[in-house]
Amino acid sequence: MPLHFFNTYSRELEEFKPRADRKIDLYTCGPTVYSRAHIGNFRAYIFEDLLQRHLEARGFKVHRVMNITDVDDKTIRGAREAKVALSKFTQQFKDAFFKDAETLRIRPADDYPAATDQKYIDKMIAMISALGSKGLAYQADDKSVYYRINKFPNYGKLAHFNLDELKTTGRVKHDEYDKEHIGDFALWKAWDEDDGGVKWDSPWGPGRPGWHIECSAMATALLGDQIDIHCGGVDNIFPHHEAEIAQSEGVTGKKFVNMWLHCAHLLVDGQKMAKSLGNFYTVPDVLAKGYTGREIRYALMRVHYRTQLNFTWDGMKEARESLGRIDDWLERLRGIAENAQRRTEDSEFEKALDDDLNISAALGFLFETIRETNRAMDENKLDAKTAALWLAWWDRINQTLDFESGDVELPAEVKKVAEARAQARLAKDFRKSDELRDKLNALGWEARDTKDGQKITRRAGA
Ligand SMILES: [Zn+2]
Repeated sequence: MPLHFFNTYSRELEEFKPRADRKIDLYTCGPTVYSRAHIGNFRAYIFEDLLQRHLEARGFKVHRVMNITDVDDKTIRGAREAKVALSKFTQQFKDAFFKDAETLRIRPADDYPAATDQKYIDKMIAMISALGSKGLAYQADDKSVYYRINKFPNYGKLAHFNLDELKTTGRVKHDEYDKEHIGDFALWKAWDEDDGGVKWDSPWGPGRPGWHIECSAMATALLGDQIDIHCGGVDNIFPHHEAEIAQSEGVTGKKFVNMWLHCAHLLVDGQKMAKSLGNFYTVPDVLAKGYTGREIRYALMRVHYRTQLNFTWDGMKEARESLGRIDDWLERLRGIAENAQRRTEDSEFEKALDDDLNISAALGFLFETIRETNRAMDENKLDAKTAALWLAWWDRINQTLDFESGDVELPAEVKKVAEARAQARLAKDFRKSDELRDKLNALGWEARDTKDGQKITRRAGA
């Protein structure tokens, strides 16, 4: 079955046809490093990780670029308020982003271009110059350079609004604006006092690039004039991605992106996440409640990417339970499987993901499989060969899901208690060992004593 994705540009489910046979260029808008990314941001990054892994499972070679926006209105404001240099201010959030992405098992991109890298600044300047010579850009009285949106007939096509019906309101220097106040957006922002030491030389005087031109320049510098898939969150559609199309196509005259895929918002307890509502969570916030990276990964992945995901603590508990079911199932299968390596056939799991990454259907098939094979094992009806086949199947789909438990997952407190218990058992202090087992239970973990020593797993239902 061919792959299908929902293309925001056409608002239709389309068959995916890469430009080159088995190679795919994938551009994903990365973090703006002015604060620690929140779990809503990571929902989009996990969706992109699932997309990349499924494409790879289907035999494609993916070249993925994720930009780091380390200069824009927000980063400059943040650095000024913190009274530190821009690069120092953004570095802490770059580091945090990579750490959180690793915790959530997000596979690294091939390239992480940074907007402040001089070679990309040069590319941005070259693109703005090219737009100027085509009449698509102009320098205004305020010395900034703007995109002339009326000269680009396709402006508004991605966001699906008609430019004729909207009054343009002149120029907008801010990186973000809404379609009610549509206007020519800034390509190059002339330096002003608020920018402090943040500036680069350009044919239009000192200044800095606008946010949108950063992505156009870095995407085309690393992937070429045309790319297969461009992803982001729905809030990137306008103005950011609309502007990317206008800039890139304005310069090259070629269709910039074949497929636009956008991930829906994440809500917390049914509401938009906001610091003022006290429902704003980063990855460390969720870890601090005793959850692990793979549990967060599961919770953020399990809902179809075009559906709003409602994050709740009950949902985190469900994620823990679901992963516990997978862990227990694997342990049972491994207990009876014979060591036979065999190829497994294409299953409903992969077919569901072929259909616009239908993760709910894919997970539905996984848990149905777990239920059925567990029943067969309960009745001693699963033979060693079949168990081995299911394990081989799991190994394959886990390349995409990356849900399998690792040994390094124990929270620090649990680890401490587990080590103390292992010591108590070595000292044959069984009373203490039992006490510590209860303590582990209270923390939501279970200690099992096997011939290879103590094994710590999530307590079912904890
Ligand atoms: Zn972008």
